[in-house]
Amino acid sequence: MVNISRVTILGSTGSIGQSTLDVVARHPDRFLVYAISAHSRIDLLAQQADTFNVAVVIVPDDSAAQRFRAVWTGNKPIPEIRVGAAALADTAADSNCDVVMAAIVGAAGLPAALAAAQAGKRVLLANKEALVAAGALFMAAVREHGAELLPIDSEHNAIFQCLPHDGRASAPAGPAPGVRRLILTASGGPFRTRQWSELTEVTPEQACAHPNWSMGRKISVDSATMLNKGLEVIEAHWLFAMPAERIHVVIHPQSVVHSMVEYEDGSVLAQLGQPDMRTPIAYGLGFPERIDSGVGLLDLALAGRLDFAAPDVHQFPCLNLSFQALKAGQGACIALNAANEIAVDAFLNRRTAYTNISRIIEATLDWHAAQASTLLNSLEDVLVVDQLARTFAGNSSLVSR
Ligand code: NAD
Ligand code: MG
Repeated sequence: MVNISRVTILGSTGSIGQSTLDVVARHPDRFLVYAISAHSRIDLLAQQADTFNVAVVIVPDDSAAQRFRAVWTGNKPIPEIRVGAAALADTAADSNCDVVMAAIVGAAGLPAALAAAQAGKRVLLANKEALVAAGALFMAAVREHGAELLPIDSEHNAIFQCLPHDGRASAPAGPAPGVRRLILTASGGPFRTRQWSELTEVTPEQACAHPNWSMGRKISVDSATMLNKGLEVIEAHWLFAMPAERIHVVIHPQSVVHSMVEYEDGSVLAQLGQPDMRTPIAYGLGFPERIDSGVGLLDLALAGRLDFAAPDVHQFPCLNLSFQALKAGQGACIALNAANEIAVDAFLNRRTAYTNISRIIEATLDWHAAQASTLLNSLEDVLVVDQLARTFAGNSSLVSR
């Protein structure tokens, strides 16, 4: 007899959110969905709420709440509708849920992910930007409030699986004993074989056409620029208490090896699988047990070969900028992430060129380095720097209005 876990999914209409519901639906005896949220696609939110009999939905504003009421066709009573960003954080900390899937995209997801950690929940963290912007704060909250933190990003989930643990997922105080390096794999995205100078004219559609993974638009562009891998280096630094110089990146176009841990004796442990986020999601939901995710067999004979190569820093300037930010400190990481969100949004809306993304980030990091350093002891401190960096990046002459 297993206890039923009550799950809240922040960002349920996104790529990770939908995959989470897919896994949850396979285990009605283990999970019930307490609350779900969406920023847009309110019709889909209503469908999900109906299918999963959720108690609470969270929408961004009153007009979205009205829309939800208008499209509700279920014969069942309509769920409680909570409105606004504060409702996301309140619901993440709600005593009626045990597990919070943090699957909002961007730093917008930080307050709610942090609230879940502060409430001592099991936090399934897909929202890597939360850790990039507030790693120290977030990990301190996990420790202080006894939260269980399970990384959902496939690389970090792979590393977590390859590290020793005792059936609980708490924040480590230092690098795991005996570990030499963490090796993050990167597919190289859709432009892996193209030169940087050839990419000025690429379109959002081309940048979002990831060869292996189907994901939201922002992370798809991040994968193309490899800023995603940079964010993941910073994420790994915080999750595994690992210094930057012991985190390495290797290009692996097939995305079968999801990442590796190298030990002092030369052993390298890897986690392999199909590129399907339902595997890390099921791992996080079931931990420490293994549960069905719906992912089929891995046919290595069909894959045929697994290739690896060093990333070319000229081809992927965003990767270097991320290492620079990590070495410079938390404020620089906030600026890196904020500038990237602004630049990617501008690119997706055809207001800047693909190759300007790294330029906008670099200019914002330079701007940040020239500012007097500020304390980053609270969520409010982090959000102030985040906002200033967004304003700077948004005013860049590289972004057309
Ligand atoms: P997505 O764009 O498909 O979905 C994002 C979700 O967040 C949607 O439900 C959307 O309504 C909601 N949202 C967007 N802006 C919001 C805001 N301002 N306030 C509240 N909610 C908002 O994104 P995704 O691909 O599912 O990625 C979600 C997170 O998971 C990202 O941080 C991403 O980096 C991470 N991640 C995704 C994948 C993947 O395969 N998709 C893999 C690893 C990590
Ligand atoms: Mg990843």
